[in-house]
Amino acid sequence: MRDRKNSISKKNIELTNMKRAIKSSFVLAVILPFLMLAYGLTSWNDNGLKIAFMIGAVILEIIQISYCVVLYIQVRNDEFETFKILYMSYYVITVIMLMLASGSDMKVFDSEILYIIACAYFIFVPIVNEKDRLIIIIAMSVIMVTMVLIFRMDVRYVIDVCLIQILTMFVSRYQHNINLRHEKMNNSLRKKTDYSEHDPLTGLFNRRGLESRANAIWPYCERNKVSVGILALDIDYFKKYNDAYGHPQGDECLKQVARVLRESAQRSTDVVTRTGGEEFIIFVQDTDEHNIVQLALKIRRNLEAAKIPHAYKAISNYVTVSIGAATFVPGYGKDFDKLYENADKALYAAKNNGRNCIVYEGNLYGRIKNGIAQVISM
Ligand code: GH3
Ligand code: MG
Ligand code: MG
Repeated sequence: MRDRKNSISKKNIELTNMKRAIKSSFVLAVILPFLMLAYGLTSWNDNGLKIAFMIGAVILEIIQISYCVVLYIQVRNDEFETFKILYMSYYVITVIMLMLASGSDMKVFDSEILYIIACAYFIFVPIVNEKDRLIIIIAMSVIMVTMVLIFRMDVRYVIDVCLIQILTMFVSRYQHNINLRHEKMNNSLRKKTDYSEHDPLTGLFNRRGLESRANAIWPYCERNKVSVGILALDIDYFKKYNDAYGHPQGDECLKQVARVLRESAQRSTDVVTRTGGEEFIIFVQDTDEHNIVQLALKIRRNLEAAKIPHAYKAISNYVTVSIGAATFVPGYGKDFDKLYENADKALYAAKNNGRNCIVYEGNLYGRIKNGIAQVISM
């Protein structure tokens, strides 16, 4: 459970970083080419040079905007690894571009604005940590001072570069602390929500978590006519299990069943929930009778393979579950409570029909013959 939470918060931090990366690259994409264009048009009289500069600025803009769009698509598709590689290449290209532009800005246009922009940009660059950022800023100042010396620029530039750097270090540190505080606040908020929506014993969602997820997706499913479904599961003869092995062992059994459920319902949209005691609900989207019964049979098979011994052997030597299944396309009178009610009725029918089976709309599944579930109409 801790692993899952850590990975959730790590993923969220990465996502925040990526959104910041896109914002900062977008700001640069807007500022930089226009600034270069303005310099080009105002600083040269030769029309040929002006046109060359304009073409350069347009190419630069295309590169910048393309990166912004591609980076945005990666975040939308959750392609974190591709994002990192692309952002790194964007980052290196931007460093080279900014340093060359800053050098020529000082030499040709006698200003340091681009260098100040470069420093400001790197203060807000995400993904790199504070140590890396310091190394980058130091490297930038060394490059700039070297360029100033090689091109025999005014000594004033060396002093200016050093002053800008000192200021950058302070702002960078301040910015880093703000980010850290922000991240910590978000994390503790996330943890609180996480605890209140999860069952502490099994790590599955609790009823509140289930409801918040169902409420979030329901209007979308209703609008787009996406079929939703519920599996209501209840462990068979669990009271007898507790009586035979004791309550603490009963808790262990609940954890094992929860693991089987989580490993069986693997779609990212599946909401595996412990609603109370030895009762579970799995809420699934984009499903129909065939799919939901297949999922229920998979759970039954996986639980059978888990071989959790049960002292009461009336139906099996191992722990089994009864499952009620229901699906529909949300609409008038077809709300979440109705779906739950239908699944619960089906579960009741499964219990009445000897347990260790699945009921969907009056059909009984789970009497396995030659590996194929038999349908029995009730
Ligand atoms: P059926 O096949 O009809 O579902 O029989 P059952 O014995 O499973 O059903 P019943 O509802 O009578 O018993 C449920 C038992 O689950 C009773 C209770 O002791 C046990 N139980 C409920 N919550 C917990 C829990 O958190 N831990 C443990 N170990 N047992 C629990
Ligand atoms: Mg029960
Ligand atoms: Mg039970």
